[in-house]
Amino acid sequence: MTAILDIQDVRKSYGSYAALKGVSLSVNQGEFIALVGPSGCGKTTLLKQIAGFEEPDTGRIAIADADMAGVPAAKRPTSMVFQKLALFPHMTVAENIGFPLKLRRTDTAEIKKRVGQMIELMQLKGEYLTRYPRQLSGGEQQRVALARSMVSAPKLLLLDEPLSALDVKLKKVLQAELKRLHRSVGVTFVHVTHDLEEAMMLADRICVMRDGAILQLGTPADIYYRPAGSFVSGFIGETNLLPITVTERTSAGLFYRAADIVDADGRIAADLIAGNVAKGPALLMLRPELLRVLSPGDVADGEIAAEVTEMFGKGGTVQYRARTPGGQMLVVEIPGTSSLPMRIGDKVRLGFTKKDIYVFGAEA
Ligand code: ATP
Repeated sequence: MTAILDIQDVRKSYGSYAALKGVSLSVNQGEFIALVGPSGCGKTTLLKQIAGFEEPDTGRIAIADADMAGVPAAKRPTSMVFQKLALFPHMTVAENIGFPLKLRRTDTAEIKKRVGQMIELMQLKGEYLTRYPRQLSGGEQQRVALARSMVSAPKLLLLDEPLSALDVKLKKVLQAELKRLHRSVGVTFVHVTHDLEEAMMLADRICVMRDGAILQLGTPADIYYRPAGSFVSGFIGETNLLPITVTERTSAGLFYRAADIVDADGRIAADLIAGNVAKGPALLMLRPELLRVLSPGDVADGEIAAEVTEMFGKGGTVQYRARTPGGQMLVVEIPGTSSLPMRIGDKVRLGFTKKDIYVFGAEA
């Protein structure tokens, strides 16, 4: 696969504050990348370096094999869409969408044709062309902003939380729209979002950042089931992290002991091991939906005794909180059914399959 975007060891400081501490990232042609991480971790800063609104202190950014050092934003094959849309209030929809082409001195007939194509692509009505932004709904305005960002046929579309100001229902519609747009035009998307569900739903790969550095880049399944460490594990969705002691590591797997985990001989093999897990303290991760309620007589690879303390209906699923005898709180999520398998106060056995667990070294 060819990399459309190649970022090598990019660093950027504002005064003495290091906002990017050596970021390297390679994005394939046509990929949809979601950039996530806590507030202030450097997501927008990274987009600005790619777009050319700022220059990195050190490091290299190449787009389609061309080094971008010294190339001004307007000359880069990128386009950026912001959360607070910057439509020109005094221009009609047609003028707004055509603006990037006008800047490039494209001829009027060509602009008209391309604007028409964008209106169709964004499923906006033709009659909107002569309206002003204030005469459109928030969602329509955001579609116009997307149309404007696509009109100059960028190689890279940079999206800085374009949907976060919209209400939930509209957001869902535009998420589906974005995915459709991505599929139909084949442009590479780098999309900053706070919404992890959105990242999971839209992205081919998710890039998790923290403190100006990339912690993990991987498919949604990698990030969710094989996170690089306890931070990523907790940042992406609900998780259970149980302290364990690794007693042995052989070609047959990893063996551990845990106060709260009951099994036949006090030794359980874990098939999935993250990084270099050495003998000694480590963390075992189990996602809430991978725990199940055992009925009497049921056998599982491992089981945990717990008392149900809380219950939340979530529509399609039910989430429970349960406490182990050792005091560890667990989250369990199971499909909602008409008769619930557990109630608050129940003492239950929660079972899991060894292939579903994941182990981090304690330092992670
Ligand atoms: P959010 O999710 O809140 O938008 P972010 O991950 O996009 O956050 P950035 O906007 O990239 O974060 O900012 C990273 C850090 O750099 C922040 O601590 C911010 O305060 C700081 N920063 C950003 N721009 C400047 C600037 N021009 N001058 C000084 N500090 C800045």
